[in-house]
Amino acid sequence: MHDVLIIGAGSAGLSAALWCDELGLDTLVLEQAEQVGGQLLSIYGPVKNYPGVHANNGRELLERFSESIYEAEFDLWTNVEIESVDLKAKRVALRSGEELQSISIIIATGVRRRNLGIPGEKDFVANGVIESASRDRNEFAGKDVCVIGGGDAAVENALLLADVCPTVTLVHRGKNLRARPTFRQQLQAQRCITVFPESVVTRILGGDKVEAVEILRKDALKPFQMAVQGVVIRIGVEPNIELFREQLELDDDGYPLVTNQQETSVANVFAIGDVSNPVAPTISGATGAGATAAKVIATRLNMRR
Ligand SMILES: Cc1cc2nc3c(=O)[nH]c(=O)nc-3n(C[C@H](O)[C@H](O)[C@H](O)COP(=O)(O)OP(=O)(O)OC[C@H]3O[C@@H](n4cnc5c(N)ncnc54)[C@H](O)[C@@H]3O)c2cc1C
Repeated sequence: MHDVLIIGAGSAGLSAALWCDELGLDTLVLEQAEQVGGQLLSIYGPVKNYPGVHANNGRELLERFSESIYEAEFDLWTNVEIESVDLKAKRVALRSGEELQSISIIIATGVRRRNLGIPGEKDFVANGVIESASRDRNEFAGKDVCVIGGGDAAVENALLLADVCPTVTLVHRGKNLRARPTFRQQLQAQRCITVFPESVVTRILGGDKVEAVEILRKDALKPFQMAVQGVVIRIGVEPNIELFREQLELDDDGYPLVTNQQETSVANVFAIGDVSNPVAPTISGATGAGATAAKVIATRLNMRR
């Protein structure tokens, strides 16, 4: 019987584990990936907004996190496949057949990028569908590209590519861009970026590699094709809650509802980090929520013992 089972070892899960360890709780962290870090592993640009640390990329920040983790004594299992979770009973069944029991559970499973679900999207992964403009822009220098989405991530990727690509076409569904004002201003100053509002990409086309996208503009009867060699898809994220969806109260966007103590609708089950923070998903938010959940759990357990 553990005091706490933490599912997910990104910024939120690792912070919660450090705090649980410091507060003397018997803690086991379960991570499905081979490596801890979650989204930190996909940040290829500098992280300038985590107080006290200037990291050149997410991996560098993770190295700093790891220095604290090596000193802590919580258990961490990676490459774990969870078969099912009974939140009320606080029981976790692993695909390996093992069953784990705990007094409390912290869900720290983060988010994943939303897919468009259009033809070609999966076929050209690593062959023109760009994973990250910061990481891959040298590869796409001199090529025409299309960025899909209207939020911060889409516009940031368009701006990064505009430094090296002759044309960048930004296609988004809404009337107005949702990106922050500074990004929108920079966008206006970039002559090589063309914005298609109220438009959708309906297909990604090509042979071995991306050769074109098919764009449908609002009010147009037919889509048209545009030659591009690269596509970036940034249409938002969705929470990783498949294991728990039926057991939790969710908001309209499918995020678990939590109290100001990070507790979900099931007693002694907490959700922290991006999985429960659609409004302001950040590293500092994730680590702060981890501390909150750990402290609440420790206080409750101390009162029982
Ligand atoms: C490109 C990019 C740039 C960013 N830049 C910044 C920035 O400059 N500043 C900032 O503050 N934030 C930034 N962010 C956001 C920041 O990275 C996230 O807010 C933060 O990392 C979220 O941490 P998390 O632990 O909640 O989730 P995640 O990092 O998503 O971690 C979740 C973990 O849970 C694991 N998991 C999921 N499902 C299961 C399961 N069923 N079983 C076991 N494990 C599971 C995942 O493998 C993962 O390791 C950026 C994000 C990206 C993608």
